[in-house]
Amino acid sequence: LRRNRGETEFHQAVREVLDSLAVVLARHAEFLEMKTVERICEPERQVVFRVPWQDDRGEVHINRGFRVEFSSALGPYKGGLRFHPSVDLGIVKFLGFEQVFKNALTGMPIGGGKGGSDFDPKGRSDAEVMRFCQSFMTELYRHLGEYTDVPAGDIGVGAREIGYLFGQYKRITNRHESGVITGKGLGWGGALVRTEATGYGAAFFADAMMAAVGESFDGKRVTISGSGNVAVYGVEKVHQLGGTVVACSDSSGHVVDEEGIDLDVLKQVKEVERARIAEYAERVPSASFVEGGSIWDVPCDVAVPSATQNELDGDAAAVLARNGCRYVVEGANMPSTPDAVRVFREAGIAFAPGKAANAGGVATSALEMQQNASRDRWTFEHTEARLEEIMRAIHARCSETAEEYGSPGDLVLGANVAGFLEVAEAVHAHGLV
Ligand code: NDP
Repeated sequence: LRRNRGETEFHQAVREVLDSLAVVLARHAEFLEMKTVERICEPERQVVFRVPWQDDRGEVHINRGFRVEFSSALGPYKGGLRFHPSVDLGIVKFLGFEQVFKNALTGMPIGGGKGGSDFDPKGRSDAEVMRFCQSFMTELYRHLGEYTDVPAGDIGVGAREIGYLFGQYKRITNRHESGVITGKGLGWGGALVRTEATGYGAAFFADAMMAAVGESFDGKRVTISGSGNVAVYGVEKVHQLGGTVVACSDSSGHVVDEEGIDLDVLKQVKEVERARIAEYAERVPSASFVEGGSIWDVPCDVAVPSATQNELDGDAAAVLARNGCRYVVEGANMPSTPDAVRVFREAGIAFAPGKAANAGGVATSALEMQQNASRDRWTFEHTEARLEEIMRAIHARCSETAEEYGSPGDLVLGANVAGFLEVAEAVHAHGLV
């Protein structure tokens, strides 16, 4: 704690994993002796850098860039870049730490890392975003490589930003090294299904949880917070699986649409026009917009928090429980506070932590890397089938591990223990590094 003073979210993420590990350490004295847990909690490398850029009026801005290369035990560092004013070292470290275990759960050969900047792309012109991305990559490129560190998108970093970042990498290095970044455009090394992967994956994971108790999405009311990449494709897959998403949101408020969110309108408003969610209610007669307020007040059977960390607290969890919610599946990273998780447990709500339920994005990034390495391009159907298989396998692995370690049904413990064991065994095998 003293070494990482003030890094609240990082402390929260580490504590949540450590809470699950007593049962593992009781069976593995070697991890205690070699301080494997302590080593896994300390990033292998942290890079913090200045990002100067000029806006359209010629004014100079200085932002801060980060890349935390957390663990290369299982493969090259892999994890997204986040551009949001709230980004600081503590946030990047919490995300990197989570990423290590998430990537292990996918069963793919990828280590964990995360990065980003406190730059806010909201309201910025394309030219400003491009100049920022070019300046950011002018430092970051020296730390990247298809066998070293492979970033992707996250909050505030979508196809546009990945394009500018890759363009600058290519220009500086004179290498069209497709495997150096994922989430690329389809015409220049991107993979089908990567855009949809995290939202689809969370829906597949929820479906697997329901199937385990003989249920399905059929007839279920679902709320999905956010209206970004994860949320939009979560809505799409939930509807395909038979559920009805009745509410989604952004940081200004939420919309409720009892007819079910109209995906075409949502995509037009959020992906094409980059407008606020209130615009959805302006266009759809069955919808209403609630400014501020909590989306978790909307009664639902399944809640899929897909916006940001700590967006669902103990009070919101109590409201969900009172309204009869039965499943909470994290599309975002650590969206539920520890209090909220406690409430879910007490209320008997089935809960899937983000490191398991939102792993579909990074798993499909690893599929993109496979396609880049083999100069191949898979069909949408083939890639989606692989994604579904991976998500169902993660669910099975978390469930079986929870059972094996004496807590049947506890997917938090299952995910933490299964992810930790995979990483810890590799770290141990590599000697004192
Ligand atoms: P986007 O930037 O595409 O969308 C984020 C959404 O969340 C927006 O609707 C945004 O609203 C809302 N949001 C962001 N910050 C806040 C906040 N402080 N309060 C309320 N709403 C907020 O990001 P993604 O959809 O890619 O990411 C969402 C979450 O999923 C993050 O936790 C991310 O780490 C996680 N994730 C993403 C993956 C991916 O493949 N994209 C993979 C795995 C996890 P507004 O526009 O108003 O800010």
